[in-house]
Amino acid sequence: MKSYDVVVIGAGPGGYVAAIRCAQLGLTTACVESWANDKGEPTLGGTCLNVGCIPSKALLDSSHQYQQIKQEANVHGITVSGVSIDVNRMIARKDTIVHILTQGIAGLFRKHKIDWLQGHGRLLSDNQIEISPVTAAHGEMTTVSAKHIILATGSVPMQIPAARIDNKLIVDSSGALAFNEVPRTLGIIGAGAIGLELGSVWNRLGAKVIILEALEEFLVPVDRQIAAQAHKTLQKQGLDIHLGTRVTGTGTNNRQVIITFDHSGDKQQIIVDKLIVAAGRQPNTAGLGAQEYGLQLDNRGFIEVDANCRTNLPNVYAIGDVVRGPMLAHKASEEGVAVAEGIAGHTGHVNYEVIPWVIYTWPEIAWVGRTEQELKERAHPYKSSAFPFMASGRARAMGETTGMIKILGDEKTDRILGVHMFGPNASELIAEAVLAMAFDASTEDIARTIHAHPTLSEALHEAALGIDKRALHI
Ligand code: FAD
Ligand code: NAD
Repeated sequence: MKSYDVVVIGAGPGGYVAAIRCAQLGLTTACVESWANDKGEPTLGGTCLNVGCIPSKALLDSSHQYQQIKQEANVHGITVSGVSIDVNRMIARKDTIVHILTQGIAGLFRKHKIDWLQGHGRLLSDNQIEISPVTAAHGEMTTVSAKHIILATGSVPMQIPAARIDNKLIVDSSGALAFNEVPRTLGIIGAGAIGLELGSVWNRLGAKVIILEALEEFLVPVDRQIAAQAHKTLQKQGLDIHLGTRVTGTGTNNRQVIITFDHSGDKQQIIVDKLIVAAGRQPNTAGLGAQEYGLQLDNRGFIEVDANCRTNLPNVYAIGDVVRGPMLAHKASEEGVAVAEGIAGHTGHVNYEVIPWVIYTWPEIAWVGRTEQELKERAHPYKSSAFPFMASGRARAMGETTGMIKILGDEKTDRILGVHMFGPNASELIAEAVLAMAFDASTEDIARTIHAHPTLSEALHEAALGIDKRALHI
């Protein structure tokens, strides 16, 4: 039986990053992965690369470009005629990007001499793993042993009884990344990150998008001021968002989906061409042998871990979507790095207080740290200042004046408590706030830092200046 210092189960952004870091630190490493693409080829990268972050951003970018050409070119004095889309080429471009990136991970594995064990991993004990091939064509059942095991089995879309996925008319997020034509009408269950991002893609490409969200509030985890701006803007763009609307049932007539929902006690129905179920994701421990070997799960099915991602089994760790905390690729990767460093005898650490969040609508929504409502609930004394992109020279030059940046600082110490953005390139702008918070910076630190002119980042500078009422351009 082959034995390793570390065997990682799952090659998403948690698992493959953990494997690379282990190998960098001189540990003999293997990574078990069962994913096969739609051609049946084994592939690395997990949800993020195959059906998550990357393909969704590829389509968000294509659809954004289409919309810019159609709606904004004219404003710049550019006359464009005969603009049309070829959905199949757009999807093929997305598939090529996924292929290049997943191949890239295979290349990194070769470079770092990480064994890619193709198949489904099952714990036989706290140091043995059985690997069954994805299909008979992919080899035989094998068993390997490891001094340390890292479980990085990720998550899968939440199934809800009210809308069973049929992969034709009712799809999950993976199906919604592969439509071969623009649906005339598209229903979406859930106004979370997936519902808003995929809703934006198909809305920009011409679908009439109706989003049904059970909660009364829009984007609960987001700062209320930012959420309100985003809600208004997205509605204006054509996303028909219905809050307080719980989907209770669906039926199909071979061509369309009939959705039944409850709104303020009223039972109502709508008919759409396609329905995306984006009702959340759940931890994936299927076939892992978790229960048989006493691996502790919490009441929602997440693998229980301590602050250092240790499970209750000795030398077995778990990271990423399959454990508590936000379901984000960068959180999974950071946990992977920290666990690898811990195994190698270093001190790995994840700063859970400063994990950035981004929702890739346009404008983008991004934040880090506490929201204003959280600070109020905790009765934490704070100072707040916001700067609108309308007053930013660069945003004006770009024609991107919607949104703002808001900064929250501790009333006594001035330490930054949170930064919230709705605006162009917020996904990139948030990095400055994350770095500042990671260094425990004050709002004064940002206020005294020179920001290049004209850039969008000046909006954060101005927001920080505004904490002491010395913003210069408002
Ligand atoms: P995963 O990426 O789910 O990988 C787990 C891997 O384990 C899979 O490859 C699976 O095949 C494998 N596996 C599971 N069980 C076994 C087993 N027993 N044996 C062998 N292999 C096994 N996050 C962001 O941060 N930014 C985004 O923009 C973003 N966009 C997203 C868009 C969509 C449409 C979706 C669905 C998700 C998005 N996410 C985004 C979330 C992100 O994809 C996840 O947080 C991330 O992939 C979690 O990484 P992971 O390594 O924990 O798990
Ligand atoms: P989510 O939990 O954010 O949103 C799901 C929504 O569906 C909830 O608001 C819930 O109230 C609603 N819902 C559930 N059942 C319903 C019903 N019967 N009727 C109406 N509404 C219902 O989950 P998601 O958007 O599916 O995303 C899953 C995970 O993937 C998230 O945790 C997120 O972190 C991650 N993700 C991140 C990004 C990003 O970072 N940009 C992008 C996509 C996904």
